Amino acid sequence: MEDISDMHPDFKSRLIDLAELLPGLGWIGLPNGDFLYHSKALVALTGMPTEEQVRRDENGDFNWKATVEAEEYERLSSAWLTAVRTERDLEVTHRIRAVDGTFRWLRSQARPQRDDNGKVIYWLGISIDIHEAMTAMEESLAKESRLAKLIDAVPSPLWAAAANGEPTHINRALAEQTGIAIDDLANADKSVLSQAIAKAIHPDDAENVNAALQHSFLTGTPFKLKYRQLRADGRYGWISGQANALRDADGIIVQWYGVCQDIDEEVLAHEALREREARVRLAVDALPGLVWMCNPEGEPTYYNRRLENWSGVGPRDILSSRKTLLSTAIRMIIHPDDQTAVERSMRASFISGEPWIMRFRQRRADGVWRWMEGRMEALRAKTGEITQWYGLELDIDEELRGQESLRLAQEKLARAAQYAAMAELSASIAHEVSQPLASVVASADAGRRWMEMSPPNLERARMSAESVLRDANIASDVVKRVRALFQNRAYERHPEDLNKIVVAVCDILNEELTAAGVAVEQDLFPDLPVVVVDGVHIQQVLVNLFRNAVEAMSEIASHSKSITVRTLSTSDGVTVEVEDTGPGIADVDRIFNPFFTTKADGMGMGLSICRSVLYSHNGRLWAENTGGGAKISFTLRSGDSEDPRRAEGER
Ligand code: ADP
Repeated sequence: MEDISDMHPDFKSRLIDLAELLPGLGWIGLPNGDFLYHSKALVALTGMPTEEQVRRDENGDFNWKATVEAEEYERLSSAWLTAVRTERDLEVTHRIRAVDGTFRWLRSQARPQRDDNGKVIYWLGISIDIHEAMTAMEESLAKESRLAKLIDAVPSPLWAAAANGEPTHINRALAEQTGIAIDDLANADKSVLSQAIAKAIHPDDAENVNAALQHSFLTGTPFKLKYRQLRADGRYGWISGQANALRDADGIIVQWYGVCQDIDEEVLAHEALREREARVRLAVDALPGLVWMCNPEGEPTYYNRRLENWSGVGPRDILSSRKTLLSTAIRMIIHPDDQTAVERSMRASFISGEPWIMRFRQRRADGVWRWMEGRMEALRAKTGEITQWYGLELDIDEELRGQESLRLAQEKLARAAQYAAMAELSASIAHEVSQPLASVVASADAGRRWMEMSPPNLERARMSAESVLRDANIASDVVKRVRALFQNRAYERHPEDLNKIVVAVCDILNEELTAAGVAVEQDLFPDLPVVVVDGVHIQQVLVNLFRNAVEAMSEIASHSKSITVRTLSTSDGVTVEVEDTGPGIADVDRIFNPFFTTKADGMGMGLSICRSVLYSHNGRLWAENTGGGAKISFTLRSGDSEDPRRAEGER
């Protein structure tokens, strides 16, 4: 049946009824591709012509051509004609123009109907209006593509995944970062997520990343992890990955959004820093000294293993206290007599920023007190602000004991030598003077007898008086000679740096000064001219002046006890001043006299011997009150000043 004319009228009217009954816009097609009938509803919707047996026109076009757009017509008519030719079901979604000029989406389906021989006799077709559903879908598609564009425009590497975790989008920044686009993950046999992880995540991190993501997808909790991710250049870089779920009004997850922040540089820098720190710590632990660090506030932040082993006190012991860490550490390891001075001077450094150096006793792990020398310096930032304090202490016990016994031996020797010299002197004076004195006595006695004669023998008396005069002069000469002898005894004189002698004296007396709570300030003139002196004697002079100062300050409050030792370069030599903060000197004119003392157990010989020592060096020693204490000073001729031995020899 190619033609309507071949069709029985009853059959035809039944077909038309059927087309009208169909739940949609029904139509009947013919085996040759023409149409038998378009339902009234279809005609009403489109306004297409109503004819019986709608034949194609001379161009082969259907009469509904005007109801669709040109390209839509090509698609639709060719779909229909293909179905007719192949006798297969038609199924096509298309738009038609309604009478009011608007377009509507239709879904058209048709199936060939056959006779008993299998020959197609007509096509039963139906078009369903799916406009509402289509526009809703279009809208959501448009929205999605707008969102995709937005995600693409964001310069951070982002990805989106469906509620089940399957990635749906990789934005441009992420594709550039990894060199992987979403289309590269289109292997239908595997999930997109597993491909993404296999391709982009470092093999050592893949399992962790997968587990964390699966946990988030399952529970809806945010994902956050640091891992290594492939970069476009083929290397792996550190990433801080995060993802959050997007939920609808009912709280149901509709989408996941994730960001892959590049933190490679930070991680590498941090790693390098940690490595450097570990290396420094290793070096610090290997240092042959006891090392610690304090923060700018003066609280200990670190001490090396050597210090811990040496003292037997670990960080836990110190941290368990409620006092400041510094006080606790000091109380635990420093000798009770030194604790206050150590803490006070350390705190003074923390405030002033000045380096700290001090000697004190510290308990070793075996309970033995050892003399230590501690030093501390501040590390400053470019701005000058202190960022850290570094401390180092060395066990100087042996060295100090050696020095101390040497000093004691020297002191004993010097004292013995002085006593011997004095005994010798008195003996020789006695010996040399006794003879002229005996003559004086004899001559005076004779003179008295000549005067008592009657008449007195004045001539003889005058001669006796002359003898007295001569012998007295002899005695005086003896005394002068003995003094000269004493002054010119052989000295061991060498060119010396007085600054060095001052520092050595401070070191020798350090323990004594610390125990007495006296702070010493050294104000030393740099490049001091050299002096030719007996170093041991000058050292003893200084020791004497320091001891006098300490004794003078014994009664005053400990925080204000201090000695300033100063060296100065003068026109013809060097001056040394020892200034204290004591009560000052009661009788400046008499203190250099032998046996002058204001102390219950004093000898009154110290300053007098000091003055003799200075005289024998062609120097001077004097004292003055400063208002804030006493100042004893001495001068010595510098460098090429004459060597008294040589000078004596030439005289
Ligand atoms: P000694 O100390 O044995 O008394 P010195 O000759 O050393 O003998 O001192 C004599 C006196 O000088 C002391 O007794 C003291 O009165 C006084 N003197 C010395 N140095 C000072 C000082 N720095 N401050 C105050 N008085 C001092």
